[in-house]
Amino acid sequence: MLKAIQILGSSSVFVSQRWKYHNSCGFSIISCSCSSSRTPTMTSLVMPTSPTRKMRCFRAFRASTIRAESNPDAPSSSSASSSASVQSTGSTLKINFCQWCGGPTKHDIPEGEEKIRAICTLCGKITYQNPKMVVGCLIAHENKVLLCQRKIQPSYGRWTLPAGYLEIGESAAEGAIRETWEEAGADVEVQSPFAQLDIPLIGQTYIIFLGKLKKPHFSPGPESLDCRLFALDDIPFDSLAFSSMLVTLKLYIEDVKSTGRPKFHYGTINKRPGTSPSDIQSYTLDFHLQS
Ligand SMILES: [Zn+2]
Repeated sequence: MLKAIQILGSSSVFVSQRWKYHNSCGFSIISCSCSSSRTPTMTSLVMPTSPTRKMRCFRAFRASTIRAESNPDAPSSSSASSSASVQSTGSTLKINFCQWCGGPTKHDIPEGEEKIRAICTLCGKITYQNPKMVVGCLIAHENKVLLCQRKIQPSYGRWTLPAGYLEIGESAAEGAIRETWEEAGADVEVQSPFAQLDIPLIGQTYIIFLGKLKKPHFSPGPESLDCRLFALDDIPFDSLAFSSMLVTLKLYIEDVKSTGRPKFHYGTINKRPGTSPSDIQSYTLDFHLQS
């Protein structure tokens, strides 16, 4: 289940990206800026180059963006140990108690590291905070896409692809299949990865697979009010739950309508802190790569 996901949104503004090609298959993103942000984003990312391998080449892609960016939802309760008192600090949680022994923590940079960590003053163990993975399926059936209407907060009543947090002990594909069963009552097989979307500010990475119904049956699970197949032109973009889903669906529709064949997409969804989590009209899609 996906109890707390960043809500981002759509936009008509564009991000400009400059790319530097090293060879036919490798590249570097050398800068990226958002024309609509109050604080333009300037960053860099270098991707490995492969001068000899005939691999799938990614190409630069114009990324759409946002007028404003929303504040992250609070991370899920599973982000914090039951023995830890947590306090949101925006992108991370302040861990006040050790998740191992319950002792009070101090916040300091451990020897050999660069970031401030919560270090137990009793047992000395360090509590690390790492991103969480959200997995789900984009299921196309008879040229329609399966969406679930959420029966839980956040975004109660809004539509989403079936997706949720990956559990320990399962693969990303297994998690996507499980979430689809739990939320849509649909027995599916995954066909290929479709999108990886990182949301660094809240420490989430989405892996969305293309899925296929094993049987043409689905029904809302306990966390869904409804499940429906939507034609691509009828997808309720005005009432989607999360920007990650909005981005995923837009990319899928663009692929299908342009070439008839979905590609693989990677991108980073960024947003501006301080805006309402309910503002789904604010995101930037940066570093968008597609196979
Ligand atoms: Zn401890």
